Amino acid sequence: MAGVVGIDVGATKTVAIAMHAGKVLAAKKIPTSGGGFAKIIDAAAWLAKEISRGHAEKIGVCMAGQVEDGTVFLMPNRDLQGKFDVKKYLEKKTGADVRVGNDGQCFALAEWRMGAAIGCRDVLGITIGTGIGGGIISAMDAKNAGAAIRQRKMAAGAFGGGALLHGAHSQAGEIGHMKLFGRGIACPCGGHGCFERYCGGAGIEAQHFAATGIARSAKEIMEAKGTACECLAKNSASVLGIGLASLANIIDPEMIVLGGSLSEAYCRTPLFGIVKKSYQRECLPRLKSMKIVKAKLEHPSAVGAALLFEG
Ligand SMILES: [Zn+2]
Repeated sequence: MAGVVGIDVGATKTVAIAMHAGKVLAAKKIPTSGGGFAKIIDAAAWLAKEISRGHAEKIGVCMAGQVEDGTVFLMPNRDLQGKFDVKKYLEKKTGADVRVGNDGQCFALAEWRMGAAIGCRDVLGITIGTGIGGGIISAMDAKNAGAAIRQRKMAAGAFGGGALLHGAHSQAGEIGHMKLFGRGIACPCGGHGCFERYCGGAGIEAQHFAATGIARSAKEIMEAKGTACECLAKNSASVLGIGLASLANIIDPEMIVLGGSLSEAYCRTPLFGIVKKSYQRECLPRLKSMKIVKAKLEHPSAVGAALLFEG
């Protein structure tokens, strides 16, 4: 099965898909390997081999961390930092052509090209799992854009006129570390009061444990009926709406697409109502009708990693 393999290396699970001619042919999931960057990428290489039956020519990898020019610098939810050249390591190990991106950016790319936001020009994609990631598709202003951006915009012309915003250090869309509260909860990124500490899985679990002394998974907390859980889930939904309003006020997207393992819980009644109410209370008047929708693809970040070869 020659073609492109897309791999999403998350904090807790690693997903691989095999893609050919724009179609996902197979998918496989394993827990993300323990240990350092090398062990995690070794497991990803094994998965690429499995899913492609040893014939992967191109491997796109996205990671839940800070990635620039094929090198990962930080995976905050795995407590990993340093400098690991994923592209070089994986190319040597597999013989394939390798491209590396950020998981939130790849999520937005996939949902825009093939999922909930097809045809849109301005989109914010948000993944809510252990942490929170994001990617921004922007129509930009062609008159003021630099040559490289104009080129990307032209390349993306067939997909609604937008383009994935990379930023000066490839970090655009790292919304999980948007500061919501001054002197707030400490984050593994080194900052305080980050969005994902209040609305991401690891943050919700830590808040629940601090309040009750009981360890529960974020999914259980979001679905349980107990007072502490319900209170925490409702508060997280309200804070999520506030965060979305802040982001919409800055980016002015046509829609926000929510994905990731915890988005199911946020998009269910009654929490989705709280998210939307909180969003509408805080966003600028013109943005009240902006759509907040669920992701359509089954493994969007892995698909987006494969799409790194298309532009
Ligand atoms: Zn942070």
